[in-house]
Amino acid sequence: MAALKKLIAGNWKMNMLTPDGTALAHAIGAKAQGTGCDLLVCPPATILRSVAEALSDSDVAVGGQDCHEAESGAFTGDVSAAMVRDAGASHVILGHSERRHGLGETDARVQAKTVTAHGVGLTAIVCIGETEAERDAGRTLDILSAQLAGSLPETGVRGANTVIAYEPVWAIGTGRTPTLDEVEAAHGHIRATLEGALGGEAATIRLLYGGSMKPENAESLLAIANVDGGLIGGASLDAESFLAIAAAAAA
Ligand code: PEP
Repeated sequence: MAALKKLIAGNWKMNMLTPDGTALAHAIGAKAQGTGCDLLVCPPATILRSVAEALSDSDVAVGGQDCHEAESGAFTGDVSAAMVRDAGASHVILGHSERRHGLGETDARVQAKTVTAHGVGLTAIVCIGETEAERDAGRTLDILSAQLAGSLPETGVRGANTVIAYEPVWAIGTGRTPTLDEVEAAHGHIRATLEGALGGEAATIRLLYGGSMKPENAESLLAIANVDGGLIGGASLDAESFLAIAAAAAA
């Protein structure tokens, strides 16, 4: 099967007010054409609509960073999948390690959120990844299997509505990355696990690598088999760095 078009996604986390966020969006949008890959930015919920409007004439898609699993109701401070969609997003990041480990989000909750996101037509970017202790204990691949089994809906998972982001927890924001062989092993395992669950559809699901991806290491990480793009935190807050990673994806 032909290689999947790469997806370069920026996770802005809890950064950017309206002026900075829209300026960053405009700077990315202005140079997005012709990169040869799909581009996505995921700003905080408060500026989702402004960023979506700033990018409406560009090739850059917009995503949320989370949504609640309930359709609506008494969940103070949360946003629903429909709200994320309504603000102009096509994607939503779910199960990021900062939510799994910082806020106690379980596989079951990530699964429920993914079902809800799919229900409103959002593409879910489901994040999985081992902690450093789990890697040191030789449990990385088992952890990935368990997170995939627990976090993905039992039905309806397709390449058109689901992306998997492999993000080793210890590599996020630390400047450290696994070796290229370790990334290849993890992504090969994720692809094989998806094949076991979904058959041929697994080949259509993009697998992103995330964790300290920068312009300097992007080309080698993005050239690995079964790495269909990147989920980028820190380096996505600078248009030049983010676009340099996109250029590396096409190299
Ligand atoms: C992330 O938060 O998804 C991430 C990959 O962050 P960073 O690129 O900063 O490691």
